[in-house]
Amino acid sequence: MSEKVRAALKVGPSTTELRDLDLPAMPDVAALLKVEVAGVCGTDVSQYRLPLRGGPLVMGHENVGYLARVGKTFAAHKGVKEGDLVFLEHYLPCGHCEWDHIGEYRHCAATEWFYDSNAIRYGYTSTDIAPGLWGGFSQYVYLPLNAVLHKVPRGLTPEEAGLATPMSNGIQWALIDGGVGYASTVLIQGPGQQGLCCVMASRQAGAGRIIVTGTSRDAKRLEVARAFGADDVIDIEKEDALSRVYEMTDGRGVDVVLDCTGGAGTAPTLLGIEAAKRRGATMVVQGEGNQEFPSFPIGRLTRKGMTLKSARGHSHRAVELALYQLASHRFPLGLMMTHTFGLADVDYAIRSVGGQGAPGAIHVSVLPWK
Ligand SMILES: [Zn+2]
Ligand SMILES: [Zn+2]
Repeated sequence: MSEKVRAALKVGPSTTELRDLDLPAMPDVAALLKVEVAGVCGTDVSQYRLPLRGGPLVMGHENVGYLARVGKTFAAHKGVKEGDLVFLEHYLPCGHCEWDHIGEYRHCAATEWFYDSNAIRYGYTSTDIAPGLWGGFSQYVYLPLNAVLHKVPRGLTPEEAGLATPMSNGIQWALIDGGVGYASTVLIQGPGQQGLCCVMASRQAGAGRIIVTGTSRDAKRLEVARAFGADDVIDIEKEDALSRVYEMTDGRGVDVVLDCTGGAGTAPTLLGIEAAKRRGATMVVQGEGNQEFPSFPIGRLTRKGMTLKSARGHSHRAVELALYQLASHRFPLGLMMTHTFGLADVDYAIRSVGGQGAPGAIHVSVLPWK
């Protein structure tokens, strides 16, 4: 009888079951990750509701763990050994396209899970594709040779390293895409885990003024934003966000707008365009699914000479910088690490991130061995 792996499987829309899957035979070109922490993100909330595209699947795409079994070829090729603590990117790139050579796996055709049903992406791939261990809500995850690993720096616990995904998004969107730097004025919309990581990245980069918006429900999160270095916070339900931004920037508007909202429709984009300074601002937006945008004010955008960019994942370099940033312990990370759950509570963990489970959730982790 083969060894078993306990996993939480999504078996239908918003439905999870605990199952025991077979531990696969390990070829020389593969490795096995013993999952310590699998972060739950906003994408999980929206994906969880959708019907399955194939068989059941193990969700969980923000994974940290110890290399438990490492094939010889895998070890030689990746420069890793059993016992190493690593952060696993959710992309499984082809390894030889123009994007992979510069660490931009999110653009690799092989990772285009949205368009290609054969593409493997951790946390999104059906157990139909052998060996099925493609998600972190499981005791083990299977690593083929094209898995992308980052060694976790010393001094960082697995749970802290579990913030690597939102932190790398924060660095990617604020610094690399948004261009936040010394003395920049920044408007960050949405104080969830991504927004809070944008606050840390902007503060670390020397931003002059960081303004964070949220709703009345976000009161606690806005406090955390302040603890991470936000200069001003705005409750958009109680205050007129636009006039407050102009007040806080002496009538100039901001250099950079970072949209970190989820499910807020077109309002954040419209606010961002108006809050941007008169000329040459950059706005990084979230394009949600098939959302339509009638009467998009492209004329305003043009008149302001604004640059519009898309927030979509992160590069290899952003992850390296994120791990470095987290390991510095410059910010009180514990304030955003609000909840951990075992495999039996994956459903509740996802609901909590969606605001319908445990109250006060910011960053939620699944610990498969809890
Ligand atoms: Zn995610
Ligand atoms: Zn590629």
